[in-house]
Amino acid sequence: MGVIRLLPKETIDKIAAGEVVVNASSVIKELAENSIDAGAKHIYILTKAGGKKLIRVIDDGCGMLREDLPLAFTRNATSKIYDDISAISSLGFRGEALSSISYVSNVTVVTRSEKEELGTRAEVVSNEIVSTEDIACTVGTTIEVTDLFYNFPARLKHLGTDQSENRAIVDITSRIALSHPEISFTLACDDRNIFSTSGNSNMLSAINSIFGRRFSEGLIPVEFENKPLKVKGFISSPNFIDPKSAERILILNGRYIRSDVITKAVDSVYMDYYSKTGAGYVLFVELPYQMVDINIHPAKTTARFLNESLVIMLIRQGIRDRLKDAFALKERVPSVKDEEEKDPFEKLEEAYVPQAEQTPERPAEHSLGERPLQQSAARPAAAERAVPKVVSAPSMLDPGSFTSGEGASAQQDAPLRAPKPETLSKDIFLKLKNMRHIGNAFGLYALIEDADTLYIIDTHAAHERVLFERYRDSFLSGNVGVQELLVPVTCELSRKQFSAAMDNVSLFESLGFTIEEFSDSGIIIRSVPVFLSGTDCAERVRGIIDELLEYPLSATDIARRNDVIIKRACHNAVRGAQNISSGEVEELLQQLYECEMPFTCPHGRPVIGKISEKYFMKVFERIQ
Ligand code: ADP
Ligand code: MG
Repeated sequence: MGVIRLLPKETIDKIAAGEVVVNASSVIKELAENSIDAGAKHIYILTKAGGKKLIRVIDDGCGMLREDLPLAFTRNATSKIYDDISAISSLGFRGEALSSISYVSNVTVVTRSEKEELGTRAEVVSNEIVSTEDIACTVGTTIEVTDLFYNFPARLKHLGTDQSENRAIVDITSRIALSHPEISFTLACDDRNIFSTSGNSNMLSAINSIFGRRFSEGLIPVEFENKPLKVKGFISSPNFIDPKSAERILILNGRYIRSDVITKAVDSVYMDYYSKTGAGYVLFVELPYQMVDINIHPAKTTARFLNESLVIMLIRQGIRDRLKDAFALKERVPSVKDEEEKDPFEKLEEAYVPQAEQTPERPAEHSLGERPLQQSAARPAAAERAVPKVVSAPSMLDPGSFTSGEGASAQQDAPLRAPKPETLSKDIFLKLKNMRHIGNAFGLYALIEDADTLYIIDTHAAHERVLFERYRDSFLSGNVGVQELLVPVTCELSRKQFSAAMDNVSLFESLGFTIEEFSDSGIIIRSVPVFLSGTDCAERVRGIIDELLEYPLSATDIARRNDVIIKRACHNAVRGAQNISSGEVEELLQQLYECEMPFTCPHGRPVIGKISEKYFMKVFERIQ
């Protein structure tokens, strides 16, 4: 007896009706899901002309019995039985994919169940099997869909170009493959291999196969359980936020879905701590079915969380905790090959080449270490210019980043391996206090030496972090120390700025600024927070006003708005960070230890880096 039965009418009615086939990628999604349900270990997906001409999905799953074939193409017939209607609707098993697909295209099936000696080849036209024949084949199913929407010219016209359909195909297949790292997926479009996953169950290897090393190497693992939410996956390392290569993938209860809500939640955490959005993530989220409504979209690629604010809070909390105490770094001793290409000594010699013979500078590839000495010393405001350059390297605490500049490109040839984030706890700052401060480079970078490592602190970034957190904490506890100005400062504003200032006098008060109306477009500043005394207070007030115009009082996330304002107030407010003494370094390390997020400045730039002795030894050819 066959295993396919009709769903009870009652169930059919309860399940939201919807058109399954909207384009080629929706066909692929349904066929691939059937292959997964059939227990396939390998799934090959081939398309031609954006799937309009051909979609072929080959699997090595359980196959179908010949007698079941007609039912497989009957609407609402399924072999998948669920007692719980909510499980059916959230998983989307509705028994209508094959019938819908065969309604709008020509379908050929080749299938064999292990229970049968011979396979069956069948042609299907509008849900009807029009021919069947025996065929010798292995166990599994191949479904070939040709001439999509040939009988629906209006629909055909609404399909995108081949390229845009291809993009959607790659997108959907990637997501499916990611949600099943235990299955090997191959996607080929127009005879071009797009990706192949190994099916070895290794999530990172799947991410790498699909999205490439540039994205996968910048990820750090994350895992947390904030009841009732369970999350496992990867997020961008704070040092490797690259909105251009970032992917945002959510796999909710085993289903890949789109969720702007989650992207926003993730973005907001990185924004709070690193002032950057665009972090990537691949998150496997488990939530009780009752908390999700996946069926709001018939193609089931979006979901609505029934308690959205709770989900956002739990996700934010988990990611925040991951980023908070731990700073991810990848230890990468440069390979000999790297050094041959980027030997700092070679670059130093270059500096002595007579001016006329000098080759043009290659700014993108150069990093601090490679720049001719006199050039870096001569650069004005080295702090402001040099720091961001290093930040863009994948890991500040990565010896390679000092010679490889953008870092990522130098890693391109490195064999893939899981990023092994060394979890640095804040204790590092206490340990550093007991090491030797051997001086400051360029007046800015404190050099601290341990047995086999040279640590480097960007004292400017460090001071800014300390200042920011102290100011923020005292603001939150309502006691910002205030300093009266001996000579009040007047500040001319635009109309818009002026009214924003006047609307927020009490907020300024709690920030430590006493401001009063002075003229019809000017204010007078009578006192400033002690944290910021001695800095250009009119500049600070203007900065705050500009942030207020962006984030008005009505902003929903007050905590975030306050953070932004205080960050702005602290911007460039650090004084005396040049050439600090050993005693001051010690004090600074203690202050960093007391910070909540000591590894970056409020704007996301790294505070600490290191170079291993081994690296020096390689450079000086003491070791290979
Ligand atoms: P559903 O997946 O909701 O059951 P479909 O129309 O997608 O509905 O498929 C109908 C039935 O056809 C499935 O329940 C399954 O028994 C069978 N089927 C479809 N594709 C495959 C496949 N690749 N391998 C084995 N059986 C399949
Ligand atoms: Mg199906």
